[in-house]
Amino acid sequence: MSGTVEANGMIQEEPLLWEKGSRGRQGMSIPAADVPPVELPAELCGAGPDFPDLSEVDVVRHYTRLSAWNYGVDSGLYPLGSCTMKYNPKINERLAATPELAAAHPLLADSEVQGCLELMYGLQEGLAAITGLPGVSLQPAAGAQGELTGMLIFAAWHRSRGSRRNKILIPDTAHGTNPASAALCGFRPVPIASGPDGILTTEAVAAVMDDETVGIMITNPNTLGLFETNIREIAEVVHARGGLVYGDGANMNAVMGVVNPALCGVDVMHLNLHKTFSTPHGGGGPGAGPVCVTAELSRFLPVPRVVRAGNGYRLDEDCPDSVGRVHAFHGNFSVLVRAYGYVLSMGAAFLKRASQLAVLNAAYLKESLKESLPLAYPRPCMHECVFSDGWLHEHNITTLDLAKRLIDYGYHPPTIYFPLVVPGAIMIEPTETESQQDLDRFIAVLKQIVAEARNNPELLRQAPTRAKLGRLDETRAARQPCLCG
Ligand SMILES: *Cc1c(COP(=O)(O)O)cnc(C)c1O
Repeated sequence: MSGTVEANGMIQEEPLLWEKGSRGRQGMSIPAADVPPVELPAELCGAGPDFPDLSEVDVVRHYTRLSAWNYGVDSGLYPLGSCTMKYNPKINERLAATPELAAAHPLLADSEVQGCLELMYGLQEGLAAITGLPGVSLQPAAGAQGELTGMLIFAAWHRSRGSRRNKILIPDTAHGTNPASAALCGFRPVPIASGPDGILTTEAVAAVMDDETVGIMITNPNTLGLFETNIREIAEVVHARGGLVYGDGANMNAVMGVVNPALCGVDVMHLNLHKTFSTPHGGGGPGAGPVCVTAELSRFLPVPRVVRAGNGYRLDEDCPDSVGRVHAFHGNFSVLVRAYGYVLSMGAAFLKRASQLAVLNAAYLKESLKESLPLAYPRPCMHECVFSDGWLHEHNITTLDLAKRLIDYGYHPPTIYFPLVVPGAIMIEPTETESQQDLDRFIAVLKQIVAEARNNPELLRQAPTRAKLGRLDETRAARQPCLCG
C-alpha cells in the first residue's frame, strides 16, 4: 500500500561491539609518554575485562543505530489502550532540565528552595481544581502507589471512626493494580461484574455493599473506554452504608475540565502524571501518581505536606493523623515540573480541549473501523475503543496475528487481550495528539490487514516479516532473555 507505510525497510544489522572490535583500533591517538614506564604492582595486573578495540566512528554508529531501533511516541503512533501514550511537548522537558530545578538538593532548607515549594504548591492547586478534591499529596511515584496511598487513607479513616472493615468492591473491568493495592493494604477485593453494556449497575453494587465493606474502587471512564454513567448513584449507595469511593484517575485524559470527580461522589483519586500530564510514559522511567482527597480526608494525607507559611511555603511534618511518608524527599520532582509546565501552559480551556479531542479521535477510530472489526460494546466511547476478535476465528487468525502484522506496516500494535472481559480484545487509544491525517493512515492500514485476513491469512500468521526479528516465543523471551544479540 504505497503512501500508507511508515516503515522504510532499511533494517540494519548491528553486531555486538565485541564482534565489531578489531585489535589495535583506537578512538583517539595518545601522544608518546614523556616519562619513563613504571611496572604496576602485581595486584593491579590481574586479567581485567577484555574490552573490544574500536574507533570513534564504530562507537558512534553503533549507538546511533541502536537508538533508532527504539520505538516511542516521538517516532510514531503508539496506540496502547489504557496507557495514554500521547506526545509530550518538548518545552516541558526543557523546564525539567532547568539547572536550578534539576540540581536543587532535596536536603536544602525550606527557606532555600522556596521556588521548588511554590511549584509544588501550585501543582497541588491545579490538580485540586481539576479533580474538585482540595487535599493533594504529590508523593506517590506511580498510579499503583497512589492507589495504595488511597487505600491507607481509607483504612485510617475507618479506624478513626472505630470501624473495622476489610472488604473492598472492585469491578471486573478494573486495572490489575486495583485489587493488588487493596490486597497490599490488607483488604479483601470483592469483584463486581459489569452490566451487559460494559458499565456498572447501581443494583450490582447495592447487592454486595454492606457494613463490612470499606468502599469501592472505580475507574471512570472505565478500562473499556466507557463512561460509568451510574457513578453518582453508586457513590450514594456506598456512602449510605458508611463506605468511601476511590476514583482511579488514570483515564483523566478523557475528562479533564469536563467531569468533576468530586461532584460524582469520589472521595480519593490518583492521577497519573506520566499518562495525562506530560511525562513520557513507558521505558520504566520515573512517573508520579499524586493523590487528591476531600477536605475531610486531608488530615490523613502523607507527610510532609507543602503548605503556605506567611508569604512563602514550607514542608509541614506535623500531621498526627497522616498515613506517613510514601516516598523519599519530594516525590519524583522532575515529573512534577513537567506537569506544572503542562497545566500552566495549557490553562483550563485547553486542558478541556485536549480531553475533548482525545474522545473525538477515539470516536473517529471507532466509527471508521466498526464495519471492519467487531466492536466489544456498540455504544459511545470515551478516549479509547475496544474491539473483539469475533470473526477472526473463522479465518483461523488470532488477535496476536493482527497485532503482529501492524509491525510490518510500521505501527506499534495496540493493547491486546486486555481488558480480560472482552474475548481477544484489541484496545486502541489514539490520544488527542494525532492528526486526522495520521488517524486515516492507521485506519487504512487496519482495513488493509482485515482484507488480508480474509484473502491471505498466511500473511498475518507469519507476521512480522519486515522487522529485524520475526515471531518470538514471548514467554521464553520474558523468562529467559538472551541479551547477547
Ligand atoms: C496505568 C493504570 C494504572 C496504574 O498506573 P501505574 O502508574 O502504571 O502504576 C491504574 N489504573 C488504570 C486504569 C491504569 O490505566
